[in-house]
Amino acid sequence: MNKILKGVIRYNKNITEKAKLVADIDKVTRQMVQPKSVFVSCMDCRVLPSKFLSSKIGEIYFLRNAGNMVPHFDAYKSGKISSEGGGLELGCITNKIRNVVVCGHSDCKAAQALFEIRHNCDHQHFLLDSPLRTWVALHGSRTVEKFSKIYSEENQLNDSYHLKEPLHFTVNLTGQDVDAIIDPDNQFNIQDKFSQLHCLEQASHVKTYPMLHSYLSSGELHIHALWFDVYTGNVYMFSVSQKKFILVDDNSFDILMQDVGESPPSF
Ligand SMILES: [Zn+2]
Repeated sequence: MNKILKGVIRYNKNITEKAKLVADIDKVTRQMVQPKSVFVSCMDCRVLPSKFLSSKIGEIYFLRNAGNMVPHFDAYKSGKISSEGGGLELGCITNKIRNVVVCGHSDCKAAQALFEIRHNCDHQHFLLDSPLRTWVALHGSRTVEKFSKIYSEENQLNDSYHLKEPLHFTVNLTGQDVDAIIDPDNQFNIQDKFSQLHCLEQASHVKTYPMLHSYLSSGELHIHALWFDVYTGNVYMFSVSQKKFILVDDNSFDILMQDVGESPPSF
């Protein structure tokens, strides 16, 4: 706690910064600033979305857990309640937010835990000895199921790093199936490819919540997938038209905006 307490004391001493924070919060409260996104990401300490999104107070609802999980609604139906559904309701229903972003990342330890138990993904098996494995097995079972269908013996590693062929994975974020190509340039290791597939699968779970169906079918609510590379700091977004994660930068901006149905602003 030394670091945390010292951090609070340092924060208290910086009167100007503290006053600015309070003023910014007050402004958001008084002006009823409308947050724009619900952002689901991993709790990994290296992943700080507000940094790479350059976001300010009042703009984004952050939901963080081990492995950027969005529990499928079937889990709720069977009584396995977790906080993420409540977070989606608070964001999308109570606060009328119309963008949900699910963000994965490279070297994700939670995704790696799921990858390691992929041959025995029954959450009951881990119930007593590992809450993490129970969690990822319970909510990541669909990732594993889909991964095992495309990660066949014929498509094993070419060497210790690369696959012989890119993985193709059907994902549905927009109401239409898209043939997603995972890491077509073979830049990432198999765990990171798995993490990208997992990110897309978790993003697709957002649409399983009945409370969101009318907003999705009317085109008011959009679901997106982002992926953060902890080694380079690069941020990728899944492009429906390109069928793959593409680097977010000036060159891809127009493509990504057209993908999400928003015209780029004219200058
Ligand atoms: Zn992670």
